Amino acid sequence: MSKKVIVLGEAREGALRNVSFEAIAAAKKISGGGEIVAVLLGDSVQSLATEMIHYGADRVVTVEHPHLKIYTSDGYSQAFMAVVEGESPDAVVFGHTALGKDLSPKVASKLKSGLISDVTSIEGEGSDAVFVRPIFSGKAFEKVKIKDGIDFITVRPNNIEPLAHDDSRTGDVSSVSVDIKNLRTIIKEVVRKSTEGVDLSEAKVIVAGGRGVKSEAGFEPLNELARVLGGAVGASRGACDADYCDYSLQIGQTGKVVTPDLYIAAGISGAIQHLAGMSNSKIIVAINKDSEASIFKVADYGIVGDLFEVIPMLTEEFKKMKA
Ligand code: FAD
Repeated sequence: MSKKVIVLGEAREGALRNVSFEAIAAAKKISGGGEIVAVLLGDSVQSLATEMIHYGADRVVTVEHPHLKIYTSDGYSQAFMAVVEGESPDAVVFGHTALGKDLSPKVASKLKSGLISDVTSIEGEGSDAVFVRPIFSGKAFEKVKIKDGIDFITVRPNNIEPLAHDDSRTGDVSSVSVDIKNLRTIIKEVVRKSTEGVDLSEAKVIVAGGRGVKSEAGFEPLNELARVLGGAVGASRGACDADYCDYSLQIGQTGKVVTPDLYIAAGISGAIQHLAGMSNSKIIVAINKDSEASIFKVADYGIVGDLFEVIPMLTEEFKKMKA
């Protein structure tokens, strides 16, 4: 049986996040040939609608309101609920992002539906779709289905391949007007941290440093390598606790969960809590002075050596390859 599936598109600084396109690809499998309706919420999102159609949405519904410029649970849930109630979908897909993790349980519980979060792949299609998600900090995977009601799903960034971009695709774009009221939070200003560059959770390449980096200045060679590779810099909690970097960079059980194509771990011992956030990366390269460090057990390539010698050498080689 085919299903009607809603996908929430997420924009940041005027551009759609890649996870929005990955969510459309997930919706395609869940729909089993049914309609895919993308939803965009914001103060000015009409211009992003065509891109959602080029990536596979059949139709786009927008809700524009000054209170949707910046995410709040109250504002977005009112707007999104209005669309869901109007569309009566069989399934709803969000990115497993800060926004998706906050909004999806709120809307699912209002509709008394189940939620499958942090999905990394989908087996089967339509009514046969089974959702695969990591459990026990990534040590095992479970395959789950929702028996009754609407399927609410969040998909982990960087795991589901987006459909090919096709600029010949066309689709209807409509807007819904929602009276957003009774907000308990009004965000006046967002102050960005200077550490923010490439979004860690969507980065294809991450260069992460641990306590072995030894100081804030010790992160500079890692920043340089990340710049050359067009990637992001991450960190272990050891490095954050030692005040070498900001906690927004922390990867692991109590930090961000990442799945880049390439994860370079420098001066990180490989504690289980760190592995919980990065062990599903496609290729892991570990650099550590201690040949017995646990990080080598999950690494595809290991370099036993001083990161302050190895990282600059790698940077120079990558620079030559790009020249
Ligand atoms: P260390 O364990 O001190 O390792 C430093 C490594 O650097 C060593 O292996 C050393 O050989 C190597 N090294 C030193 N100098 C050099 C050099 N010059 N060149 C190359 N290698 C060098 N940790 C996380 O990362 N993320 C989490 O989300 C997280 N959540 C936690 C939650 C809980 C409830 C608890 C209890 C702990 C959590 N931790 C987390 C902490 C975790 O247990 C470890 O303490 C932490 O990951 C260690 O960080 P580290 O590997 O940088 O430091």
